[in-house]
Amino acid sequence: MFRKILIANRGEIALRIQRACRELGIPTVAVHSTADAEAMHVRLADESVCIGPPPARDSYLNIPAILSAANITGADAIHPGYGFLSENAGFAEMVEAHGLTFIGPSPAHIRMMGDKIAAKAAMASLGVPLVPGSAGEVSDLDEAAAVAARIGYPVLIKAAAGGGGRGMKVATSADGLEEAWRVARGEAKAAFGNDAVYIEKYLDRPRHIEMQVMADAHGRVVHFGERDCSLQRRHQKLLEEAGSPAITPEQRDALGVTVTAGLTKLGYRNAGTLEFLYQDGHFAFIEMNTRLQVEHPVTEMVCGIDLVREQIRIAAGQPLGYTQSDVTFTGHAIECRITAEDPDTFTPSPGRVTAFHAPGGLGVRVDSALYAGYTVPPFYDSMIAKLIVHAPTRDEAIARMRRSLAEFVVVGIKTTLPLHARILEDKTFQSGEYTIHWLERFVAGR
Ligand code: ADP
Repeated sequence: MFRKILIANRGEIALRIQRACRELGIPTVAVHSTADAEAMHVRLADESVCIGPPPARDSYLNIPAILSAANITGADAIHPGYGFLSENAGFAEMVEAHGLTFIGPSPAHIRMMGDKIAAKAAMASLGVPLVPGSAGEVSDLDEAAAVAARIGYPVLIKAAAGGGGRGMKVATSADGLEEAWRVARGEAKAAFGNDAVYIEKYLDRPRHIEMQVMADAHGRVVHFGERDCSLQRRHQKLLEEAGSPAITPEQRDALGVTVTAGLTKLGYRNAGTLEFLYQDGHFAFIEMNTRLQVEHPVTEMVCGIDLVREQIRIAAGQPLGYTQSDVTFTGHAIECRITAEDPDTFTPSPGRVTAFHAPGGLGVRVDSALYAGYTVPPFYDSMIAKLIVHAPTRDEAIARMRRSLAEFVVVGIKTTLPLHARILEDKTFQSGEYTIHWLERFVAGR
C-alpha cells in the first residue's frame, strides 16, 4: 500500500479522497493555490503545499509544481480527482516517469478515450453499440454534407477533443450545416487547441445513461450499474440518479455484460464510466470518462461500496477480491449538484459564506468543502456542495431529497438550492419520464 498520497485537486473532491485515504490509514498531502490557503481541503490534510497563484493554469494545472510537492513531501502516489489534470495522459506519464503511481488508468487508455473519435472506433471494435454518425473525423464540408444526408437531419457536429459540452453544434437541416460546422470547429479550436470534429445523429429524446466500471490489474472487470444523468443544462449535469427510472434490471445486466467484456479485452484498469444515450430501447455509446466522476456517490449509495478506496487499492496492485455477482443494488439514490450561482440566471455568485448548515439524518450525505466564514473564490468551478440521498424506493428518495433541500442553509452567496427544490416538486421529474432536453425547457419556462 502507498506511504503517502498527494491529492492534486481542491474542494469537495479533495475532501472525498482524503476520507478514503484516512480510512485506509494513508497520510495525505494537499496542494493549493494562494486563493485556497484557508480552504477546508488544506485544513484537513496531513500536510499541504502551496503550488501557485489563483489561476488554475498556474496552480492546479502546474505540473512541475505538483511533482515537486510530491517529491518534497515524500508522497508515492497522486490522485487527480476529476477535472484539472485527471484526464491528462501526459501528466499521468510524467507521474510514472518520476517513480510515482498515478491513481487511475494507463496513460494510453486516457489518451485513447480523450480523443472521442478514437474512443468510438475502439468501442465499435469491442462490440459496443454507437450513436450513428461519421466513421471518423470529418475534415471538409462536402464530406459533412454527405454524412448528414446519409444519417439524416438533425445532426450534431462534435469536437474530437470535446468536454464540458463545448464544441458541439446542432444542424437541423442542410441550410444550417455550414454555420454549425464553422461554429463547432471554432469553439473546439479555442477551447481545446484542436479543431477536429465528427458528426453524430442528433437524438431528439434520449436519456443520458452511464455505466460505472472498475477494473483491477489482474484482468478482472466489474460494473456497479448505471446512473441516469439526463437532467442537464447546456450539456452539463445538474442532478443524477441511480438506478435509472427508465431501464430494467435485465437491461442493466445486459449492458453490463457488453461493457465489462469490452473493457476486459481492452485491458482497462481502474475506474471508468461509459456514457450512453438511450432512446427507443437502444443504448448508443457517446464517450468514456477515464476518471472518478462528480456523480459517483449515487453509485456508492446503492452498491454500498467506496469507489475511491477501490481506486487506491487497485492502483496499489491489489485484486478487486469479488466478482460481478457479489455486486448488489439496494434502493434508490439521487444527487443534486449545488452551485454558487443565481438560481434563475446562473450568474456566478462567489463571496463570503456567513452561515452554513448542512442537512442530515438517515440516508443523507453532503459532500462539500464549505464552512461558515469561508469565501468562495471566483477562480474555479462554481459547485459548492453535492447533496446525496438514499432510500428504499425512488418516491422515498424524492421525499428525502425535498426535506434535505429544505434543511440546507447557505447564507451570504446565492446558490441553486431553490432551483433543485423546484425540480424535485415537478410532476414530470417525479414521474421519472424526462429526457436530456427537459431541464433546459423547464429552466427557460421560468
Ligand atoms: P462532453 O464531453 O462535452 O460532455 P458528450 O459527448 O459527453 O460531451 O455529450 C454531453 C451531452 O450532450 C450528452 O449527455 C447529451 O445530453 C448531449 N449529446 C451528446 N451527443 C448527443 C447526440 N448525438 N444527440 C443528442 N444529444 C447529444
